[in-house]
Amino acid sequence: MTYRGRFAPSPTGPLHAGSLVSALASFLDARAHGGSWIVRIEDVDAPRTVPGAADEILATLAHFGMHSDETPVRQSERGDAYQAAFERLQAAGFIYPCGCTRREIADSLVHTHARHATLAYPGTCRNGLHGKPARAWRLRVPDGDAALVTFVDRWQGPQTQNLATEVGDFALKRADGLWAYQLAVVVDDVDAGITHIVRGADLLDSTARQIYLQRCLKVPTPAYLHVDVVNNDAGEKLSKQTGAAPLDRHAPLDALVEAARHLGIHVSAGSLDAFYSAATPAWAKRFTR
Ligand code: GLU
Repeated sequence: MTYRGRFAPSPTGPLHAGSLVSALASFLDARAHGGSWIVRIEDVDAPRTVPGAADEILATLAHFGMHSDETPVRQSERGDAYQAAFERLQAAGFIYPCGCTRREIADSLVHTHARHATLAYPGTCRNGLHGKPARAWRLRVPDGDAALVTFVDRWQGPQTQNLATEVGDFALKRADGLWAYQLAVVVDDVDAGITHIVRGADLLDSTARQIYLQRCLKVPTPAYLHVDVVNNDAGEKLSKQTGAAPLDRHAPLDALVEAARHLGIHVSAGSLDAFYSAATPAWAKRFTR
């Protein structure tokens, strides 16, 4: 097997201790397998993109000793690939236009009392737009047992999600005309030949959707490993929204040793080379076989 892994930051701000954990885990997994590690800039959500953030992320990764093995891919340049996948799904009858506004979806959910009502789209436009203009495009998820997607996460263990009750038909093209993250990530991973996805557990909830989309597109499903997210003292996930401090480029070792500890790897090192020489076999011992 030729291992190909990736780190896929959204350029919405600088890297912080939480994103460093995801970057490091994906990097160590690639190195431990003797594989390639590729950075992808996930700027599909243009309104959230912060000018200059992508270059800053790449420069910070370099200071931390992590260099993409290939020229980083940018989602903002991949519209044609998303369009082609969208057309394949459309031709196969998997998708339909949806005219619901957020308000209408919220109102209909109040009346269904479904268990995961706050999450699942109730399928209002499955059988037509009822005269409303098309806003988004959704992928039809199966009903009954076929809605269950199971996979074994290399860190978190066996996972199951019921796409019908927990998610509902999900958007591939958003009402604002942008491609949805779920479509972009699946198309990018397959086009880059990604074999192993290593990322934060905040994305565990998206994985079943991505696996289902891979099945609809008839492409292979990669292996998944979701690392525990890093929380702040208040128990919130570290993020720009919760005020996570940007990484200090001038003190990479301390932050790397701390990130490794979060991954269950206890090393002390006096240089970046020494750090990676110790951390890579320690990761391999836990996660490769
Ligand atoms: N761009 C996503 C994020 O920064 C990661 C997506 C992924 O790894 O699949 O949260």
